Amino acid sequence: MENIVSLCKRRGFIFQSSGIYGGINGCWDFGPLGVELKRNLKEDWWYNFVGQRDDIVGLDASIIMHPKVWEASGHLDEFHDMLVDCKECKKRFREDHLETEVCPDCGGEFTEPRTFNMMLKTRLGANDATAVETYLRPETCQAIFANFKEVYTSSRMQVPFGIAQVGKAFRNEINPRNFIFRSREFEQMEIEFFCKAEDEDKFFEEWKTHIWQWYLDIGLDEDKMRWYSHPQESLSHYSSRTEDVEYEFPFGWGELQGLANRGNFDLTQHTKFSGKDLSYFDPQTNERFMPSVIEPSAGADRTAMAILCNSYEEEEVGDKGDTRVVMKIHPRLAPIKAAVLPLVKKDGIAELAQDFERKLRKKFNTFYDQSGAIGRRYRRMDEAGTPFCICVDYDTKEDGTVTVRDRDSMEQVRMPMDDVAAYVQGKCSFERD
Ligand code: ATP
Repeated sequence: MENIVSLCKRRGFIFQSSGIYGGINGCWDFGPLGVELKRNLKEDWWYNFVGQRDDIVGLDASIIMHPKVWEASGHLDEFHDMLVDCKECKKRFREDHLETEVCPDCGGEFTEPRTFNMMLKTRLGANDATAVETYLRPETCQAIFANFKEVYTSSRMQVPFGIAQVGKAFRNEINPRNFIFRSREFEQMEIEFFCKAEDEDKFFEEWKTHIWQWYLDIGLDEDKMRWYSHPQESLSHYSSRTEDVEYEFPFGWGELQGLANRGNFDLTQHTKFSGKDLSYFDPQTNERFMPSVIEPSAGADRTAMAILCNSYEEEEVGDKGDTRVVMKIHPRLAPIKAAVLPLVKKDGIAELAQDFERKLRKKFNTFYDQSGAIGRRYRRMDEAGTPFCICVDYDTKEDGTVTVRDRDSMEQVRMPMDDVAAYVQGKCSFERD
Protein backbone atom coordinates (compact mmCIF):
# COMPACT_ATOMS: atom_id res chain seq x y z
CA MET A 1 0.00 0.00 0.00
CA GLU A 2 2.80 2.45 0.89
CA ASN A 3 4.35 1.98 -2.55
CA ILE A 4 1.04 2.77 -4.22
CA VAL A 5 0.40 5.85 -2.07
CA SER A 6 3.90 7.10 -2.75
CA LEU A 7 3.59 6.53 -6.51
CA CYS A 8 0.25 8.36 -6.50
CA LYS A 9 1.86 11.40 -4.92
CA ARG A 10 5.11 11.27 -6.92
CA ARG A 11 3.40 10.89 -10.28
CA GLY A 12 0.45 13.20 -9.64
CA PHE A 13 -2.43 10.78 -9.26
CA ILE A 14 -3.57 11.76 -5.75
CA PHE A 15 -2.44 14.36 -3.19
CA GLN A 16 -3.58 15.06 0.32
CA SER A 17 -5.94 18.04 0.36
CA SER A 18 -4.45 21.29 1.73
CA GLY A 19 -1.07 19.58 2.06
CA ILE A 20 0.77 22.91 2.49
CA TYR A 21 -1.24 23.44 5.69
CA GLY A 22 -0.52 19.98 7.00
CA GLY A 23 -3.51 18.36 5.27
CA ILE A 24 -7.12 17.91 6.32
CA ASN A 25 -8.32 14.51 7.39
CA GLY A 26 -10.54 12.61 4.96
CA CYS A 27 -10.16 14.98 1.99
CA TRP A 28 -8.11 14.23 -1.13
CA ASP A 29 -7.18 15.92 -4.41
CA PHE A 30 -6.78 14.22 -7.77
CA GLY A 31 -3.68 15.51 -9.60
CA PRO A 32 -3.07 15.71 -13.37
CA LEU A 33 -2.99 11.94 -13.91
CA GLY A 34 -5.62 11.14 -11.27
CA VAL A 35 -8.19 13.54 -12.68
CA GLU A 36 -7.91 11.91 -16.11
CA LEU A 37 -8.24 8.43 -14.62
CA LYS A 38 -11.32 9.41 -12.61
CA ARG A 39 -12.92 11.26 -15.54
CA ASN A 40 -12.39 8.20 -17.73
CA LEU A 41 -13.92 5.82 -15.25
CA LYS A 42 -16.96 8.05 -14.69
CA GLU A 43 -17.37 8.50 -18.43
CA ASP A 44 -17.06 4.78 -19.05
CA TRP A 45 -19.66 4.13 -16.36
CA TRP A 46 -22.00 6.69 -17.98
CA TYR A 47 -21.32 5.29 -21.47
CA ASN A 48 -22.12 1.78 -20.32
CA PHE A 49 -25.10 2.37 -18.02
CA VAL A 50 -26.74 5.42 -19.60
CA GLY A 51 -25.53 5.87 -23.20
CA GLN A 52 -25.84 2.23 -24.21
CA ARG A 53 -29.26 1.66 -22.64
CA ASP A 54 -32.60 2.99 -23.69
CA ASP A 55 -34.14 2.43 -20.27
CA ILE A 56 -31.89 4.77 -18.24
CA VAL A 57 -31.72 8.58 -18.30
CA GLY A 58 -29.39 10.94 -16.46
CA LEU A 59 -29.68 13.69 -13.88
CA ASP A 60 -27.28 16.23 -12.38
CA ALA A 61 -28.94 17.68 -9.30
CA SER A 62 -27.97 20.26 -6.73
CA ILE A 63 -25.81 19.06 -3.83
CA ILE A 64 -27.72 21.18 -1.34
CA MET A 65 -31.40 20.34 -1.05
CA HIS A 66 -34.36 21.42 1.05
CA PRO A 67 -33.77 20.31 4.67
CA LYS A 68 -37.08 18.41 4.65
CA VAL A 69 -35.55 15.96 2.17
CA TRP A 70 -33.35 14.63 4.94
CA GLU A 71 -36.23 14.32 7.36
CA ALA A 72 -38.24 12.38 4.78
CA SER A 73 -35.34 10.14 3.77
CA GLY A 74 -34.73 9.16 7.38
CA HIS A 75 -31.20 10.52 7.39
CA LEU A 76 -31.86 12.94 10.22
CA ASP A 77 -32.91 10.11 12.54
CA GLU A 78 -31.13 7.10 11.13
CA PHE A 79 -27.90 8.14 9.43
CA HIS A 80 -25.57 7.69 12.33
CA ASP A 81 -22.80 5.54 13.61
CA MET A 82 -22.42 4.29 17.15
CA LEU A 83 -19.43 5.95 18.76
CA VAL A 84 -17.34 5.11 21.77
CA ASP A 85 -14.63 7.25 23.40
CA CYS A 86 -11.58 5.94 25.19
CA LYS A 87 -11.74 7.24 28.77
CA GLU A 88 -7.93 7.36 28.96
CA CYS A 89 -6.61 8.78 25.66
CA LYS A 90 -9.97 10.32 24.60
CA LYS A 91 -9.70 8.84 21.13
CA ARG A 92 -13.02 8.21 19.37
CA PHE A 93 -13.92 4.96 17.55
CA ARG A 94 -16.78 3.52 15.53
CA GLU A 95 -18.14 0.71 17.67
CA ASP A 96 -18.73 -1.61 14.69
CA HIS A 97 -15.08 -1.27 13.60
CA LEU A 98 -13.66 -2.40 16.92
CA GLU A 99 -12.28 -5.87 17.43
CA THR A 100 -11.35 -5.43 21.10
CA GLU A 101 -13.26 -4.56 24.29
CA VAL A 102 -10.64 -1.97 25.23
CA CYS A 103 -8.93 0.88 23.37
CA PRO A 104 -6.59 -0.62 20.71
CA ASP A 105 -4.20 2.35 21.19
CA CYS A 106 -3.76 2.53 24.97
CA GLY A 107 -5.84 -0.30 26.46
CA GLY A 108 -8.19 2.21 28.17
CA GLU A 109 -11.83 1.58 29.00
CA PHE A 110 -14.58 2.80 26.62
CA THR A 111 -17.55 5.05 27.36
CA GLU A 112 -21.08 3.78 26.64
CA PRO A 113 -21.82 3.89 22.89
CA ARG A 114 -23.77 6.92 21.63
CA THR A 115 -25.08 8.02 18.27
CA PHE A 116 -23.33 10.46 15.95
CA ASN A 117 -25.09 11.84 12.87
CA MET A 118 -22.75 11.76 9.88
CA MET A 119 -24.33 14.50 7.78
CA LEU A 120 -22.35 17.71 7.31
CA LYS A 121 -24.36 20.79 8.22
CA THR A 122 -24.29 24.00 6.26
CA ARG A 123 -26.24 27.28 6.27
CA LEU A 124 -27.80 29.15 3.37
CA GLY A 125 -28.44 32.86 3.62
CA ALA A 126 -26.51 35.96 4.70
CA ASN A 127 -28.59 36.84 7.71
CA ASP A 128 -27.87 34.75 10.81
CA ALA A 129 -31.42 35.05 12.06
CA THR A 130 -33.06 33.86 8.85
CA ALA A 131 -30.40 31.58 7.38
CA VAL A 132 -31.65 28.08 6.62
CA GLU A 133 -29.75 25.22 8.13
CA THR A 134 -29.40 22.27 5.80
CA TYR A 135 -26.93 19.54 4.85
CA LEU A 136 -24.44 18.57 2.19
CA ARG A 137 -25.99 15.45 0.70
CA PRO A 138 -24.68 12.19 2.20
CA GLU A 139 -25.85 10.26 -0.90
CA THR A 140 -26.79 11.44 -4.37
CA CYS A 141 -29.96 9.39 -4.75
CA GLN A 142 -32.42 11.53 -2.78
CA ALA A 143 -32.42 14.09 -5.61
CA ILE A 144 -33.42 11.28 -7.97
CA PHE A 145 -36.42 10.44 -5.81
CA ALA A 146 -37.39 14.09 -5.39
CA ASN A 147 -37.25 14.54 -9.19
CA PHE A 148 -38.86 11.20 -10.05
CA LYS A 149 -42.06 12.72 -11.40
CA GLU A 150 -40.31 15.56 -13.27
CA VAL A 151 -38.04 13.07 -14.98
CA TYR A 152 -40.57 10.52 -16.08
CA THR A 153 -43.09 13.06 -17.31
CA SER A 154 -40.51 15.16 -19.20
CA SER A 155 -38.64 12.21 -20.72
CA ARG A 156 -41.74 10.03 -21.23
CA MET A 157 -39.98 7.07 -19.63
CA GLN A 158 -42.14 4.18 -18.51
CA VAL A 159 -41.57 1.82 -15.59
CA PRO A 160 -39.35 -0.20 -15.61
CA PHE A 161 -36.68 2.45 -16.13
CA GLY A 162 -33.78 4.00 -14.27
CA ILE A 163 -32.32 7.41 -13.44
CA ALA A 164 -28.54 7.73 -13.12
CA GLN A 165 -26.45 10.37 -11.43
CA VAL A 166 -22.77 10.96 -10.74
CA GLY A 167 -21.81 13.50 -8.15
CA LYS A 168 -20.28 14.46 -4.84
CA ALA A 169 -21.48 13.18 -1.50
CA PHE A 170 -20.28 14.13 1.99
CA ARG A 171 -20.12 12.17 5.21
CA ASN A 172 -18.54 13.23 8.46
CA GLU A 173 -16.76 9.88 8.82
CA ILE A 174 -15.38 9.35 12.31
CA ASN A 175 -12.23 7.59 11.24
CA PRO A 176 -11.35 8.43 7.63
CA ARG A 177 -8.67 5.94 6.67
CA ASN A 178 -7.04 3.61 4.19
CA PHE A 179 -5.97 6.35 1.79
CA ILE A 180 -9.01 7.49 -0.27
CA PHE A 181 -11.12 4.44 0.67
CA ARG A 182 -12.98 6.19 3.47
CA SER A 183 -13.13 9.93 2.79
CA ARG A 184 -15.39 12.71 4.03
CA GLU A 185 -15.96 14.07 0.52
CA PHE A 186 -16.30 11.58 -2.32
CA GLU A 187 -18.15 10.88 -5.53
CA GLN A 188 -20.92 8.39 -6.09
CA MET A 189 -22.23 6.86 -9.29
CA GLU A 190 -25.80 5.81 -8.58
CA ILE A 191 -28.78 4.40 -10.43
CA GLU A 192 -32.29 4.18 -9.06
CA PHE A 193 -34.07 1.58 -11.15
CA PHE A 194 -37.87 1.84 -10.79
CA CYS A 195 -39.94 -1.29 -11.26
CA LYS A 196 -43.10 -3.07 -10.12
CA ALA A 197 -42.94 -4.72 -6.69
CA GLU A 198 -43.32 -8.18 -8.21
CA ASP A 199 -40.24 -7.60 -10.40
CA GLU A 200 -37.87 -6.57 -7.59
CA ASP A 201 -36.04 -9.91 -7.41
CA LYS A 202 -35.75 -10.26 -11.18
CA PHE A 203 -34.13 -6.83 -11.56
CA PHE A 204 -31.95 -7.34 -8.48
CA GLU A 205 -30.44 -10.41 -10.17
CA GLU A 206 -30.06 -8.58 -13.51
CA TRP A 207 -28.25 -5.69 -11.84
CA LYS A 208 -25.92 -8.12 -10.07
CA THR A 209 -24.78 -9.33 -13.48
CA HIS A 210 -24.43 -5.85 -15.02
CA ILE A 211 -22.38 -4.33 -12.25
CA TRP A 212 -20.08 -7.34 -11.90
CA GLN A 213 -19.40 -7.21 -15.64
CA TRP A 214 -18.53 -3.49 -15.50
CA TYR A 215 -15.69 -4.14 -13.05
CA LEU A 216 -14.33 -6.80 -15.40
CA ASP A 217 -14.66 -4.38 -18.35
CA ILE A 218 -12.49 -1.80 -16.58
CA GLY A 219 -9.83 -4.38 -15.83
CA LEU A 220 -10.30 -5.54 -12.24
CA ASP A 221 -9.13 -9.10 -11.56
CA GLU A 222 -12.12 -11.33 -10.95
CA ASP A 223 -10.31 -13.33 -8.30
CA LYS A 224 -9.97 -10.14 -6.21
CA MET A 225 -13.71 -9.52 -6.23
CA ARG A 226 -16.51 -11.12 -4.24
CA TRP A 227 -20.13 -10.57 -3.19
CA TYR A 228 -21.01 -9.90 0.42
CA SER A 229 -24.62 -10.34 1.43
CA HIS A 230 -25.78 -8.21 4.39
CA PRO A 231 -27.58 -10.17 7.12
CA GLN A 232 -31.11 -8.84 7.87
CA GLU A 233 -30.09 -7.26 11.17
CA SER A 234 -27.41 -5.04 9.61
CA LEU A 235 -29.51 -3.65 6.74
CA SER A 236 -29.94 0.13 6.38
CA HIS A 237 -33.31 1.55 7.42
CA TYR A 238 -34.55 1.70 3.78
CA SER A 239 -33.38 -1.70 2.53
CA SER A 240 -34.90 -5.18 2.51
CA ARG A 241 -31.90 -6.76 0.79
CA THR A 242 -28.36 -5.49 0.19
CA GLU A 243 -25.39 -7.15 -1.46
CA ASP A 244 -22.01 -5.47 -1.87
CA VAL A 245 -19.30 -5.99 -4.43
CA GLU A 246 -16.06 -6.12 -2.47
CA TYR A 247 -12.50 -5.83 -3.69
CA GLU A 248 -9.42 -7.24 -2.01
CA PHE A 249 -7.37 -4.10 -1.29
CA PRO A 250 -3.87 -4.38 0.18
CA PHE A 251 -5.47 -3.61 3.61
CA GLY A 252 -8.16 -6.30 3.17
CA TRP A 253 -11.62 -6.66 1.62
CA GLY A 254 -13.60 -3.43 1.19
CA GLU A 255 -16.91 -2.38 -0.38
CA LEU A 256 -16.84 -0.97 -3.90
CA GLN A 257 -20.55 -0.87 -4.57
CA GLY A 258 -23.78 -1.65 -2.76
CA LEU A 259 -26.79 -3.13 -4.52
CA ALA A 260 -29.95 -2.52 -2.48
CA ASN A 261 -33.63 -3.26 -2.77
CA ARG A 262 -35.10 0.00 -1.40
CA GLY A 263 -38.69 -1.09 -2.12
CA ASN A 264 -40.95 1.97 -2.29
CA PHE A 265 -39.62 3.45 0.96
CA ASP A 266 -38.22 6.67 -0.51
CA LEU A 267 -41.05 7.59 -2.89
CA THR A 268 -43.59 6.89 -0.13
CA GLN A 269 -41.69 9.04 2.37
CA HIS A 270 -41.30 11.98 -0.03
CA THR A 271 -44.99 11.74 -0.92
CA LYS A 272 -45.81 11.93 2.78
CA PHE A 273 -43.47 14.80 3.65
CA SER A 274 -43.96 16.95 0.54
CA GLY A 275 -47.66 16.35 0.07
CA LYS A 276 -46.99 15.68 -3.63
CA ASP A 277 -48.13 12.33 -4.96
CA LEU A 278 -45.11 10.52 -6.41
CA SER A 279 -46.97 7.41 -7.47
CA TYR A 280 -46.79 6.26 -11.06
CA PHE A 281 -49.64 5.79 -13.49
CA ASP A 282 -49.07 2.92 -15.89
CA PRO A 283 -50.66 3.87 -19.22
CA GLN A 284 -50.59 0.26 -20.40
CA THR A 285 -52.56 -1.27 -17.52
CA ASN A 286 -54.29 1.90 -16.28
CA GLU A 287 -52.97 1.09 -12.80
CA ARG A 288 -51.52 3.57 -10.31
CA PHE A 289 -48.80 2.31 -7.96
CA MET A 290 -45.73 3.35 -5.98
CA PRO A 291 -42.76 1.86 -7.86
CA SER A 292 -40.10 -0.19 -6.11
CA VAL A 293 -36.45 0.67 -6.48
CA ILE A 294 -33.35 -1.40 -7.11
CA GLU A 295 -30.30 0.72 -6.42
CA PRO A 296 -26.74 0.05 -7.57
CA SER A 297 -24.62 2.61 -5.69
CA ALA A 298 -20.91 2.78 -6.51
CA GLY A 299 -18.11 5.03 -5.31
CA ALA A 300 -15.95 6.66 -7.99
CA ASP A 301 -13.04 7.21 -5.59
CA ARG A 302 -13.09 3.66 -4.32
CA THR A 303 -13.20 2.42 -7.92
CA ALA A 304 -10.22 4.63 -8.75
CA MET A 305 -8.40 3.22 -5.75
CA ALA A 306 -9.20 -0.36 -6.77
CA ILE A 307 -7.90 0.37 -10.27
CA LEU A 308 -4.68 1.83 -8.88
CA CYS A 309 -4.13 -1.14 -6.55
CA ASN A 310 -5.05 -3.66 -9.24
CA SER A 311 -2.71 -2.04 -11.78
CA TYR A 312 0.42 -1.65 -9.68
CA GLU A 313 3.15 -4.14 -10.55
CA GLU A 314 6.86 -4.40 -9.92
CA GLU A 315 8.49 -6.56 -12.59
CA GLU A 316 11.98 -7.80 -13.19
CA VAL A 317 13.19 -6.81 -16.62
CA GLY A 318 16.27 -7.87 -18.59
CA ASP A 319 18.90 -10.15 -17.15
CA LYS A 320 20.65 -7.60 -14.93
CA GLY A 321 18.07 -7.85 -12.16
CA ASP A 322 16.51 -4.46 -13.01
CA THR A 323 12.93 -3.85 -11.92
CA ARG A 324 10.30 -1.65 -13.46
CA VAL A 325 7.19 -0.26 -11.80
CA VAL A 326 4.29 -0.45 -14.20
CA MET A 327 0.69 0.65 -13.79
CA LYS A 328 -1.30 -1.79 -15.91
CA ILE A 329 -4.36 0.45 -16.11
CA HIS A 330 -6.90 -0.69 -18.72
CA PRO A 331 -6.27 1.41 -21.89
CA ARG A 332 -9.91 2.56 -21.64
CA LEU A 333 -9.14 4.32 -18.37
CA ALA A 334 -5.47 5.24 -18.86
CA PRO A 335 -4.86 8.97 -18.24
CA ILE A 336 -2.50 9.29 -21.22
CA LYS A 337 -3.21 7.02 -24.17
CA ALA A 338 0.03 7.46 -26.09
CA ALA A 339 3.41 9.09 -25.54
CA VAL A 340 5.43 10.26 -28.53
CA LEU A 341 9.15 9.96 -28.00
CA PRO A 342 11.83 10.99 -30.52
CA LEU A 343 14.75 8.55 -30.41
CA VAL A 344 17.16 11.50 -30.64
CA LYS A 345 16.68 15.27 -30.66
CA LYS A 346 18.88 16.04 -33.65
CA ASP A 347 18.50 15.76 -37.44
CA GLY A 348 14.88 16.92 -37.45
CA ILE A 349 13.65 13.86 -35.53
CA ALA A 350 12.34 15.92 -32.57
CA GLU A 351 10.38 18.25 -34.88
CA LEU A 352 8.92 15.30 -36.77
CA ALA A 353 7.86 13.70 -33.47
CA GLN A 354 6.36 16.93 -32.17
CA ASP A 355 4.30 17.44 -35.31
CA PHE A 356 3.05 13.90 -35.05
CA GLU A 357 2.12 14.34 -31.38
CA ARG A 358 0.09 17.47 -32.22
CA LYS A 359 -1.91 15.49 -34.75
CA LEU A 360 -2.61 12.64 -32.35
CA ARG A 361 -3.55 15.09 -29.54
CA LYS A 362 -6.68 16.03 -31.49
CA LYS A 363 -7.99 12.51 -31.02
CA PHE A 364 -6.90 11.45 -27.52
CA ASN A 365 -4.65 12.41 -24.60
CA THR A 366 -1.00 12.33 -25.56
CA PHE A 367 2.31 13.26 -24.02
CA TYR A 368 5.53 14.39 -25.65
CA ASP A 369 8.87 13.66 -24.00
CA GLN A 370 12.31 14.18 -25.46
CA SER A 371 14.43 14.35 -22.30
CA GLY A 372 16.74 11.54 -21.21
CA ALA A 373 17.57 8.10 -22.51
CA ILE A 374 14.74 6.32 -24.32
CA GLY A 375 14.67 3.50 -21.74
CA ARG A 376 14.16 6.02 -18.90
CA ARG A 377 11.35 7.67 -20.84
CA TYR A 378 9.63 4.30 -21.32
CA ARG A 379 9.86 3.69 -17.55
CA ARG A 380 8.29 7.06 -16.77
CA MET A 381 5.37 6.22 -19.04
CA ASP A 382 5.06 2.74 -17.48
CA GLU A 383 4.58 4.40 -14.07
CA ALA A 384 1.96 6.76 -15.51
CA GLY A 385 0.09 3.77 -16.95
CA THR A 386 0.44 4.94 -20.58
CA PRO A 387 -0.46 1.93 -22.74
CA PHE A 388 1.44 2.95 -25.89
CA CYS A 389 4.80 4.65 -26.49
CA ILE A 390 5.47 5.73 -30.05
CA CYS A 391 9.09 6.13 -31.00
CA VAL A 392 10.05 8.34 -33.93
CA ASP A 393 13.50 7.50 -35.37
CA TYR A 394 15.64 7.76 -38.51
CA ASP A 395 13.52 5.22 -40.40
CA THR A 396 10.49 7.47 -39.81
CA LYS A 397 12.17 10.11 -41.98
CA GLU A 398 12.78 7.56 -44.69
CA ASP A 399 9.57 5.54 -44.82
CA GLY A 400 7.02 7.24 -42.50
CA THR A 401 6.86 4.34 -40.04
CA VAL A 402 7.19 4.42 -36.24
CA THR A 403 7.50 1.81 -33.51
CA VAL A 404 4.60 1.34 -31.13
CA ARG A 405 5.62 -0.17 -27.79
CA ASP A 406 3.03 -2.01 -25.74
CA ARG A 407 3.28 -1.12 -22.03
CA ASP A 408 2.42 -4.58 -20.69
CA SER A 409 4.33 -6.90 -23.04
CA MET A 410 7.03 -4.29 -23.87
CA GLU A 411 6.85 -5.61 -27.42
CA GLN A 412 7.35 -3.17 -30.25
CA VAL A 413 5.66 -3.25 -33.62
CA ARG A 414 6.48 -1.06 -36.59
CA MET A 415 3.60 0.59 -38.43
CA PRO A 416 2.92 3.54 -40.75
CA MET A 417 2.32 6.81 -38.86
CA ASP A 418 -1.06 7.05 -40.57
CA ASP A 419 -2.22 3.84 -38.89
CA VAL A 420 -1.29 4.79 -35.33
CA ALA A 421 -4.35 6.88 -34.39
CA ALA A 422 -6.84 4.19 -35.38
CA TYR A 423 -4.71 1.51 -33.67
CA VAL A 424 -4.61 3.40 -30.35
CA GLN A 425 -8.25 4.46 -30.55
CA GLY A 426 -9.29 0.87 -31.20
CA LYS A 427 -7.59 -0.29 -28.00
CA CYS A 428 -8.82 2.61 -25.84
CA SER A 429 -12.42 2.84 -26.99
CA PHE A 430 -15.25 2.48 -24.48
CA GLU A 431 -16.96 0.24 -27.01
CA ARG A 432 -17.35 -3.40 -25.89
CA ASP A 433 -17.04 -6.33 -28.31
P1 ATP B 1 -19.24 1.70 4.34
O1 ATP B 1 -19.96 0.51 4.94
O2 ATP B 1 -17.90 1.38 3.75
O3 ATP B 1 -19.24 2.90 5.25
P2 ATP B 1 -21.71 2.27 3.07
O4 ATP B 1 -22.33 0.91 3.05
O5 ATP B 1 -22.15 3.26 4.08
O6 ATP B 1 -20.12 2.15 3.07
P3 ATP B 1 -23.20 3.19 0.86
O7 ATP B 1 -24.06 4.09 1.66
O8 ATP B 1 -23.76 1.91 0.33
O9 ATP B 1 -21.85 2.90 1.62
O10 ATP B 1 -22.58 4.05 -0.36
C1 ATP B 1 -22.44 3.55 -1.65
C2 ATP B 1 -21.03 3.64 -2.12
O11 ATP B 1 -20.49 4.94 -1.91
C3 ATP B 1 -20.08 2.71 -1.40
O12 ATP B 1 -20.11 1.43 -1.95
C4 ATP B 1 -18.74 3.38 -1.61
O13 ATP B 1 -18.20 3.00 -2.87
C5 ATP B 1 -19.10 4.85 -1.63
N1 ATP B 1 -18.79 5.42 -0.31
C6 ATP B 1 -19.58 5.42 0.78
N2 ATP B 1 -18.96 6.04 1.80
C7 ATP B 1 -17.76 6.42 1.35
C8 ATP B 1 -16.66 7.12 1.92
N3 ATP B 1 -16.69 7.54 3.17
N4 ATP B 1 -15.55 7.36 1.16
C9 ATP B 1 -15.50 6.94 -0.14
N5 ATP B 1 -16.52 6.28 -0.74
C10 ATP B 1 -17.63 6.03 -0.02
